[in-house]
Amino acid sequence: MKYIDEFNDPDLARRLLDEIRATATRPWALMEVCGGQTHSIIRHGIDQLLPEQVELIHGPGCPVCVTPLEIIDKALEIASRPGVIFCSFGDMLRVPGTDRDLFRVKGEGGDVRVVYSPLDALELARSNPDREVVFFAIGFETTAPANAMAVHQARRLGLANFSLLVSHVRVPPAIEAIMSAPACRVQGFLAAGHVCSVMGTAEYPELAERFGVPLVVTGFEPLDILEGIRRAVRQLESGEHRVENAYARAVREDGNPAAVRMIEEVFEVTDRSWRGIGRIPSSGWRLTDAFRAFDAEHRFDVTRIRTEEPAECRSGDVLQGLIKPTECSAFGTTCTPRTPLGATMVSSEGACAAYYLYRRMNAPTPQATRAAREEMNPVA
Ligand code: SF4
Repeated sequence: MKYIDEFNDPDLARRLLDEIRATATRPWALMEVCGGQTHSIIRHGIDQLLPEQVELIHGPGCPVCVTPLEIIDKALEIASRPGVIFCSFGDMLRVPGTDRDLFRVKGEGGDVRVVYSPLDALELARSNPDREVVFFAIGFETTAPANAMAVHQARRLGLANFSLLVSHVRVPPAIEAIMSAPACRVQGFLAAGHVCSVMGTAEYPELAERFGVPLVVTGFEPLDILEGIRRAVRQLESGEHRVENAYARAVREDGNPAAVRMIEEVFEVTDRSWRGIGRIPSSGWRLTDAFRAFDAEHRFDVTRIRTEEPAECRSGDVLQGLIKPTECSAFGTTCTPRTPLGATMVSSEGACAAYYLYRRMNAPTPQATRAAREEMNPVA
């Protein structure tokens, strides 16, 4: 299969690992930014194959995990209202709010629907003119263009019953926040390839320079990740810190200009809270004044939200790379995909979910992994 099998070749993987082993003379800590990369690393055991000098730290790049509790509680409140069709990607249904989740709201009679694109929600708005259709617009730079397009279309079609509950976040300010934290141990980044395929790499050279870290744009297959690590270690060993593109088949320096234009037409940069991490300046997008009428927070009165995080959950530490999921005392005991305390245990890109799926037992059997997958699948 083109572009999949080629990046899973075991001989090439061995050669890359040998080169990393031969290059690394000192301990280095690299952060993979994206939760998709985390899953690939844990699934293929890449972290266990690396020489002991090279440590991978899992980053905050899971859109479901970083959606703040306040927004989840607002989603629950809006989804409970009569006359509302609340649309979301499947991952969000099991994410715990302060006292329930979207599955519970659905069980209590709320019209919560799983969609695969914001355009599906737009179609629902078209075919249900007497209902309010709200789409839960979460995610990084990758999902923003399609969500922007949906709002654009809604305005063009004159759909007054369509709105977005927006919780978009941006990667570069998160990298800045991670590097500015006193406890930070990160010495280099594997930047998320799909984010850069939209936004390009223009925002990264300044970060590499200011914090003295290599930033290697990296894909998601095993060889992509090993190549990203190889390049980052090579830079670190030679005292360099620059941006390199190891995902050239998908990323151009200027990204996807049409997608960026669509984002800039509909969204403007704003401060955002990240679940478990806190407020990061300029780290998100919100709808501009011209599209404010499509803002669900503006349309529905959801201002009296009181949030409470479970004290036991350490997902903030997991998302900042301060601990590994298995260091959380609730991991696999009081917190499982069926009884999650944090979003990182139920999101398909969550670090706790990755460890639960692939690393829960010393030698997980295919049956155990399949059972864990079934636990995680909220729509099954
Ligand atoms: S294992 Fe559960 S409780 Fe612990 S950090 Fe992960 S989501 Fe939170």
